[in-house]
Amino acid sequence: MASIINVNRLKDTQPLEMGQILNIPSASSPQQVLSLFPSGRWKYIIVHHSATQEGSSLQFHRHHQEKGWDSVGYHFVIDNGKSGKPDGFIEITPRWLKQQHGAHCKASDMNTVGIGICLVGNFNEREVSPAQMNALVYLVNELRRYYKIPKNNILGHRHVPGSKTDCPGNRFPWDKFKRQIQ
Ligand SMILES: [Zn+2]
Repeated sequence: MASIINVNRLKDTQPLEMGQILNIPSASSPQQVLSLFPSGRWKYIIVHHSATQEGSSLQFHRHHQEKGWDSVGYHFVIDNGKSGKPDGFIEITPRWLKQQHGAHCKASDMNTVGIGICLVGNFNEREVSPAQMNALVYLVNELRRYYKIPKNNILGHRHVPGSKTDCPGNRFPWDKFKRQIQ
C-alpha cells in the first residue's frame, strides 16, 4: 500500500474517486475474475444492449445517476473496445458485488429476480463483435451453472412479457447465442 500511495502521490487521508486511475507497481496484466455469491435470488438472466456506440460501467453509472437511480442498473457490462477497456471485457458493477436487485427491466418484476447483463453497442445498427459474444456466452454459462438457471429463463429484454422495447436490438443473433448455452 505504501508504494501505491507513493507512486500515485496520494495523501493517505485522501479518499479515492470512482474511476480514478491508479498505477500499481510490478502488477501483472489485468485478469478476468468472475465473483459468484451464494444466493437463492437469481432465477433469470436478462440480456440488454446499451443502444449507444460506446460506453462503460462507469459511464452508465454516471448516466443512470443523472436519471436519479442510485448506481448503474446492470450487474455486468461487456465492453466493445471503444471506452478504454478491451473488446469483450466483462465489467462487474458495484450492484453485483453488493448483490443488489437490478434496475434494468421493470417488466414482469425482473429487477428482483433477474441478473442484468448489458453489451455495449447498438445492435439495431451493427453486429455484436465476436469477442463480446464469446464473453457473453462464457458469462451466461458460468452464471447459469452456479445459480441453476434454466435455459428458458435466459431472455433478451424484448422477450420479457410486458416489456416494450427492441433491446438487445434486431441484429442480435439470438438463436446463435442460445445454441452456445450449455
Ligand atoms: Zn434492455
